[in-house]
Amino acid sequence: MTDSNFLKERNAKDIWHPMAHPADSIANPPEIITKGEGVTITDVDGRTVVDAVGGLWNVNLGYSCQPVKDAIAAQLQALPYYSIFRGTTNDQVIELGAMLADFFKEDGLTRAFYTSGGSDSVEVSLRLARQYHKIRGEGGRVKFLSLKKGYHGTHTLGASVNGNANFRTQYEPLMPGCYHIPAPYTYRNPFNETDPEKLAQLCLAAMEDEIKFQGAETIAGMIMEPVLGAGGVIPPHKRFMPGVRALCDKYGILLIADEVITAYGRTGSWSGSRHWGVKPDMMCTAKAITNGYFPFGAVMINDKVADVFENDKTGKGAIGSGYTYSGHPVGAAAAIACLKETQRLNVKDNAAARGAELFAGVQKLQESHELIGDIRGGEGLMIALEIVSDRATKAPGAKPTMATIQKTAYETGAMVRVSGNNIILSPPLIVSSEDVNTILTALDAGLSAA
Ligand code: PMP
Repeated sequence: MTDSNFLKERNAKDIWHPMAHPADSIANPPEIITKGEGVTITDVDGRTVVDAVGGLWNVNLGYSCQPVKDAIAAQLQALPYYSIFRGTTNDQVIELGAMLADFFKEDGLTRAFYTSGGSDSVEVSLRLARQYHKIRGEGGRVKFLSLKKGYHGTHTLGASVNGNANFRTQYEPLMPGCYHIPAPYTYRNPFNETDPEKLAQLCLAAMEDEIKFQGAETIAGMIMEPVLGAGGVIPPHKRFMPGVRALCDKYGILLIADEVITAYGRTGSWSGSRHWGVKPDMMCTAKAITNGYFPFGAVMINDKVADVFENDKTGKGAIGSGYTYSGHPVGAAAAIACLKETQRLNVKDNAAARGAELFAGVQKLQESHELIGDIRGGEGLMIALEIVSDRATKAPGAKPTMATIQKTAYETGAMVRVSGNNIILSPPLIVSSEDVNTILTALDAGLSAA
């Protein structure tokens, strides 16, 4: 099974890919990746490129993180599985819990609820938010607010708060009671506002208007990404998230930070919330918690929420959420090793420094490539290039243009990701300046070919 054409044919016949049309696997066979080393990946044909996607924004420490690999191997020998449902636990989740409480202390988050990934973390946080209000006798608070262009996974509650039609339309009807606020997306917004700070104020005003319209007493929580990721890397103005926090406090609404991408250093801070100086009530994490080597996640919870559950005497605080793989000992062992390496290497600082270099390099590319309509990011290693066919009308770049950029960049040395008309860059946080240059050279080639 080494002939790559044969493998591509079998792939198209046997496998449906997430986030892809089944027919696409035949028309545009995916690259078959067989090896990872450092910040590079190698395909079945032997081509090695810098992974400017970082797996799926999760392989923060690259592909050769030996301590995490060793921890997984050792834990497989010691205890490959046991559940942490009521009645049992394991040594790994206990050690990890203490580490996470320490890691997120500055965010005010003290308890961990383990999951098997990002969509699970979102689902659990939304369920806990409703339950929190029910325990307190405010059972009418069942609705959720979120941002248009936000991405919160594909479970049904998460899809209901998702702010992108692509992940919703084919699956409707979704959960009732979810309402979307305009995103602080300066390049395109319904207010035609080009000043980020003014736009942040307009979005906050729209949020308050929606709260009043729905009735604060009906709203359980607001979920948001500190920097919108899959929606096209949209960092809000620095006053936006603090403004959301203030509205949540004013109206008794829980603030849930979806940090599945941003937690553990990607923004140049240890969490996206911390980056903006905000303490959320709950934080969804996953992805980089194990460097992508094992499916795992954790919802972090603050004392305000935890006290309500822990002091409940009515029985309503019993948690009716959990997964077979919640607190998987191998995942927890991977996370312990990963957190240690993440901190030892202080990857947040490299994310900030290399992110600034990459952002400056992309800005330079914009001078010579008319196709780049907008560049967003620069808060660490999350950057998007929004491709347009006409800068004046901002008409989105066509699918074949996006495919050409991606393919040529790949052939020139870097794997970049296409999401709609955005090129997304989210390399491992350990990239060097040389890797940044490789990514920029590949992008330059891709844009020239399109
Ligand atoms: N929330 C955010 C902000 C995400 O970016 C993602 C995944 N890209 C998810 C939730 C869902 O995570 P998963 O794919 O691990 O279920």
